[in-house]
Amino acid sequence: MPTETLLRRGARRRCPVCGEGKLFRSWVRMVPECPQCGLVFDRLPGHWLGSWFLNICLVQLVVVLILSIGVAATWPEPPMWIIGGATALSAVLVPFLFFPISRTLWCAIDLAMRPLDYDDGVAPGFILSEDQERLEVERSASHEDDK
Ligand SMILES: [Zn+2]
Repeated sequence: MPTETLLRRGARRRCPVCGEGKLFRSWVRMVPECPQCGLVFDRLPGHWLGSWFLNICLVQLVVVLILSIGVAATWPEPPMWIIGGATALSAVLVPFLFFPISRTLWCAIDLAMRPLDYDDGVAPGFILSEDQERLEVERSASHEDDK
């Protein structure tokens, strides 16, 4: 599966493997596995640190943009209470609004870096042939290292 497809599905809050869209019980409560293909989203302990990282990066970018554009547009006397309030509000709202996208996007990035394995619980019909080939190449390389 092309990385672009994984990322596109992740950016649309869909399962990167099958494209299923019903992955959240509420805005912040994600189901543990995909109801269609069976992908277990929490693939490793600490898996969600990557989605937190994505969220923090976006918040920092938004805060810096609001601050710098706000100051530049109102120079030489920027209304710092208004700009500060807007940055504080964005620091609270953006991570909440981006939360589900950061989760599915991180799942897509993780799948692009680490192909599916048998432990991921994905139904056999959804195992991606390219992932399967990469997995077998990596396994044969690791078996050769053992010898
Ligand atoms: Zn799925």
